[in-house]
Amino acid sequence: MVGGGPAGAAAAIALARAGRAVTLVDRATFPRDKICGDGLTTGALRLLEDLGLDPRAVPSWKPVDDVVVTSPSGRQVTFPLPRARGTYAAIALREELDAALLDVARAAGVTVIEGQAVTGAEERADRVVLEVAGVGQLHARYAVAADGMWSPMRKHLGVATPGYLGEWHAFRQYFADVGPRAASDLFVWFEPDLLPGYAWSFPLPGQRANVGFGIQRDGGKVARVQDMKQIWPELIERPHIREALGPAARPESPHRAWPIPARVDEAVLATRRTLFAGDAAAATDVMTGEGIGQALLTGMLAARAIQEGGLDPGVVTATYERSVRDALVADHRMSALLVRALKHRKGARAAVRVAGASGWTRRNFARWLFEDYPRGVIATPRRWHRGMFTGPGAYR
Ligand SMILES: Cc1cc2nc3c(=O)[nH]c(=O)nc-3n(C[C@H](O)[C@H](O)[C@H](O)COP(=O)(O)OP(=O)(O)OC[C@H]3O[C@@H](n4cnc5c(N)ncnc54)[C@H](O)[C@@H]3O)c2cc1C
Repeated sequence: MVGGGPAGAAAAIALARAGRAVTLVDRATFPRDKICGDGLTTGALRLLEDLGLDPRAVPSWKPVDDVVVTSPSGRQVTFPLPRARGTYAAIALREELDAALLDVARAAGVTVIEGQAVTGAEERADRVVLEVAGVGQLHARYAVAADGMWSPMRKHLGVATPGYLGEWHAFRQYFADVGPRAASDLFVWFEPDLLPGYAWSFPLPGQRANVGFGIQRDGGKVARVQDMKQIWPELIERPHIREALGPAARPESPHRAWPIPARVDEAVLATRRTLFAGDAAAATDVMTGEGIGQALLTGMLAARAIQEGGLDPGVVTATYERSVRDALVADHRMSALLVRALKHRKGARAAVRVAGASGWTRRNFARWLFEDYPRGVIATPRRWHRGMFTGPGAYR
């Protein structure tokens, strides 16, 4: 496993539980920060539960009940998530979440090498050979490259796209002393100048919040990453945003930015003996930029493909490519379609209006947004099953 974020940890846990000898290498030493909104969808939460993560191991774990969305016209709609049926959305500092997930991996028998980068990779007929700084060579039957947006493994194996910078770019800053609204509710603001991007405030314990915004690299109005720095101080002082954050809210850390890769339909998912997972497979949702659930899922699919394919690398890679396509490409296309509508003020306004039309639409929009069921489920009858719109959340 190259990378110990959600994708690498999920693959490692699943394989170790299936009785495989697994070594995971990360160049960082955990706990480490990952620039992120720290938001967990219902889909991500269910996978974390399957993997055996105990929320009590993550001190910042904060379940969310209400999502407040503001349309470009300023109309604010509250979308309630189901109550008393488990958790449908939560926020958890990545610093703590990823370290806790690695602890689950260790407990499952994974050998974790931290603070050492993989500096080279070569695929031979019967194995993958990884060069690990400070360690030497590691030989494995298969590698899972879960090494994030910049995926050095793609470069080592000759499948990187030169000049690729991701589909989105997003900014994040932690705030302290936020008011009661930002301390409990999750806010999304569709600002006219950010469309199809949005700004957010995600609540954390201790009157803190993760505040940020994302823009699409091509086509949005704030089209240049350099413009993001300039707009940030003004953005958080916009009256409706300041009102939600509260008068005493203050930044407690520098703002940081990172790209978001979201083109799983085009990405190379595998080479001869290496499976790319998570951001290394550009698997984030192209509408929301959420990628933790997709990272966990692709990691688990990689583990399953390795188990099913056994000694035959052709079967392993074909199984993996097919399972990722089946699980994510229809949803990616649905999200891409919606991004086109959200690009325009009118489209974003109409979306919020329709979603907020009745109690029923409000409840179901919140569940759809948080991936309680697959984004493109309507277009894929093969995934329909009884109870798909009424399933419980995670951690009941
Ligand atoms: C600002 C921002 C906000 C976001 N908000 C959300 C959100 O609220 N919810 C959500 O679901 N998603 C969000 N995302 C997306 C989410 O952060 C990613 O999709 C997710 O982290 C992908 O997980 P991963 O395991 O694939 O990669 P990562 O979490 O990036 O982990 C990759 C790991 O690989 C390691 N690595 C890299 N190179 C090497 C090397 N050479 N050798 C060894 N190890 C290496 C790194 O140290 C790292 O630990 C956001 C992204 C951004 C940028």
